[in-house]
Amino acid sequence: MQPEQAPDTRMDDLSRFCCQRPDCPLYGRRGQGNLTVCARYGTAQQHRLLYCRACKYRFSEHKSTPLFDSRLPPDKLIAVLAHLADGCGVRQTARLTGVGKNAVCRLAKAAGAHAQRLHDELVAFSPQHPQGAVG
Ligand SMILES: [Zn+2]
Repeated sequence: MQPEQAPDTRMDDLSRFCCQRPDCPLYGRRGQGNLTVCARYGTAQQHRLLYCRACKYRFSEHKSTPLFDSRLPPDKLIAVLAHLADGCGVRQTARLTGVGKNAVCRLAKAAGAHAQRLHDELVAFSPQHPQGAVG
């Protein structure tokens, strides 16, 4: 409806998300105001990397992901995911990001397996149905 001239200033609705770090005081609690978007990734910057102010933990909005258990630094991880999402093969992604082929392969598999779950979650998370909200 409204023209969106400055997409960066729009509010990110993070009320559906909660910190994924088990030892965080706000672990699993939504709407605590502890989360911010610290980065975006993907071909259209469609994926968000969230940051928890309470415990300084960073994680994908695609919560509880095996992807982010990786030992890669977040920027490398984002680069790998971005390339994979872009349709790059494992070998090409490894070469472009400087990440080992094995790690890329693992991430690709995890991303694939996660995508399906993610889809289900996003469908279940439809913001049009606030009566399903928790907390
Ligand atoms: Zn936290």
